[in-house]
Amino acid sequence: MPDTFKAILVSRDAEKKQSVEIVDLTEADLMEGDVTVAVEATTVNYKDGLAITGKAPVVRRWPLVPGIDFAGTVISSSHAEWRKGDKVILNGWGVGETHYGAYAGRTRVKGDWLVPLPEGMSPHDAMAVGTAGYTAMLAVMALERHGILPDRGPVVVTGAAGGVGSVAISILSTLGYHVIASTGRNAESPYLIDLGAAEVIARDELNQTAKPLAKERWAGGIDSVGSHTLANVLSMTSYGGAIAACGLAGGMDLPTSVAPFILRGVSLLGIDSVMAPKPVRLEAWRRIGTDLDLKKLSTLSRSIGFDGIIGAARDIIDGKIRGRVVVDM
Ligand code: NDP
Repeated sequence: MPDTFKAILVSRDAEKKQSVEIVDLTEADLMEGDVTVAVEATTVNYKDGLAITGKAPVVRRWPLVPGIDFAGTVISSSHAEWRKGDKVILNGWGVGETHYGAYAGRTRVKGDWLVPLPEGMSPHDAMAVGTAGYTAMLAVMALERHGILPDRGPVVVTGAAGGVGSVAISILSTLGYHVIASTGRNAESPYLIDLGAAEVIARDELNQTAKPLAKERWAGGIDSVGSHTLANVLSMTSYGGAIAACGLAGGMDLPTSVAPFILRGVSLLGIDSVMAPKPVRLEAWRRIGTDLDLKKLSTLSRSIGFDGIIGAARDIIDGKIRGRVVVDM
């Protein structure tokens, strides 16, 4: 009998009605790839919530094992860079969208998609950061490239109590930025201040229809919400500032005008983690190792087991998850 392992499988019937179940798979069921990995930790990202609930068309191959990121140990490899026993991380590349993903005891992927687990970080730590945190780091790096350094003025983080927001606040405050956290969950203010926010503002201040330009409040920011929130954030950005946009938790639209761009020279920096080239990923994970206070990971994350994934996926779409959820396999 071949070894079996548990996996979450999303399927769809002839009427395109989506269902999710826990199944037993063997390595023979896995998709093509040159490295097989034992998944030790994964996480529940917003996109995983969309995939499991079917709220947005994240899954583009049926049936599919969802889960867009994992940390684990190589079991077997025919890829030149990886050997049995290597500790690795994967974020994105369509895993959990078009390729069987992390919500299984084992997964088989392309070796080119993997990066090494940074020294001093456990698989659990890496998934407390996860794709949300790696994306937050990409956004910080984009702001820095644009010259938005701590001496330029405050930076705003929207969706602050979420995964991207929580890690972004932690990194930015460690780097010396004055962080203004925007949240719809006022009760999470002490948590956000604990992570390093200097000020907490209400989501309501940013989610009404935006004026073309408003009072200048920040030099930069990281937005994981989109829609009216991003439009307001742009209209309140000071001359020459920049906003890194990475998410759509509030909507995919962007009801803004060109005013912030042509009258204040504001820049909108697009952040994509899924197809980011390998050197950028390696730099982001290196920076996470140096610029994120790993002690904050215990504040911003909690652990669940494999059986908790489906419930957490529903909760993240309902905006009920604070910070990050780590799945210890
Ligand atoms: P979370 O659900 O953890 O966080 C999103 C946060 O946004 C919530 O916690 C909440 O924060 C806020 N929010 C939720 N709904 C609304 C709403 N209707 N209006 C305003 N604010 C809202 O998700 P993640 O942090 O993991 O991901 C955030 C976004 O970034 C998602 O859209 C995700 O798809 C995207 N993303 C993009 C990546 C990329 O490569 N570009 C990679 C990773 C994520 P609060 O309660 O504090 O207000």
